[in-house]
Amino acid sequence: MGIKEIRVYSVKLQYKEPFRIALGTSTESHNVIVQVITDFEIEGWGEASPSQRITGETPQTVMEALDKISPKLIGMCPLRIEHVVEIMDETVSGNPSAKAAIDMALHDILGKVAQRPLYRVIGGYRTKVLTDFTLGIKSPQEMAEAAVKAIEQGFRALKIKVGINPEEDVERVAMVRNSVGNKVALRIDANQGWTPEQAVNVLKKLERFDLEFVEQPVKANDLEGLAYVRKNSTIPIMADEAVHSPRDALKTVEAEAVDLINIKLMKCGGILNARKIAAIAEAAAVPCMIGCMGESGLGITAAVHLAAATKNIRYADLDSDLLLKDKLIEKGCAELEGSLRIPPNQPGIGIQKIFHGKLGKPIKVYR
Ligand SMILES: [Mg+2]
Repeated sequence: MGIKEIRVYSVKLQYKEPFRIALGTSTESHNVIVQVITDFEIEGWGEASPSQRITGETPQTVMEALDKISPKLIGMCPLRIEHVVEIMDETVSGNPSAKAAIDMALHDILGKVAQRPLYRVIGGYRTKVLTDFTLGIKSPQEMAEAAVKAIEQGFRALKIKVGINPEEDVERVAMVRNSVGNKVALRIDANQGWTPEQAVNVLKKLERFDLEFVEQPVKANDLEGLAYVRKNSTIPIMADEAVHSPRDALKTVEAEAVDLINIKLMKCGGILNARKIAAIAEAAAVPCMIGCMGESGLGITAAVHLAAATKNIRYADLDSDLLLKDKLIEKGCAELEGSLRIPPNQPGIGIQKIFHGKLGKPIKVYR
């Protein structure tokens, strides 16, 4: 059995409202969808949600990478995922979100061949995944209001974006904590916005708000700074932008710079590499979170499967599809029940129906 055809689509999905983090503001997620068709009546779906700020990719570079990769995959067995990833890495360096789209589609096919939901095939550790809801940067008052709204909707964990201005960041966290009470889990993400000294000072002031962890307080390439903050803070430190690949995970662990690692399919190149990061981290007693980068329900549902499958992925921030006004998946998206995301009980990733008006026609077909 082999890959017969790869179709590539370009989709633009609007956010409900501008989404601001320390690195910038997004109003739209421009993603690339791949459909991998086999010669045995099974097809797989994958998504790339590129971020120029995080991985240097754009929809254009994703399509250029797929243009080089796709012809090499025609005729290959879609279940030889390690081999496909090797070929992709030999063909183009970097381009993790383009590779993640192909990897995701192959995992979709794997689950369909096994006739089981993907999470059951790759580990099956849990059946539901508790996600947080992310509060983009606004005034402290507005963020507190958004927090209350999210809790009323059933969320039990919130991720507060900070990293703009240390004083105001403390106010943001204080107002959110005061408005939601003590039972809600709070975590914060500075997206590299502080210097190591600033981070230590701010985190000291935030100790009393019972935070689970802080994501990426300092610059991605400053491992020494990250280790310094970790040594001087009682709040657990999570690496996000500092860890793209399994190799990065090993480096941060060796530098004693992290308590936790945030895995994203779009940073690491897909489910295969994500599982390698989770395994390296597990061996170092470092739990992981799985996050997202503007994926629609397709990429999010794939990530929900991975989180459900994997013991060491203990936290989830899988909400980007909820922040988007435009929906790509009509049927088969991971359900949201309160704060829980439920992987669909269908073979593979489980996508059953895509809004064809949003998907449009393929912009490229390889056969
Ligand atoms: Mg982050």
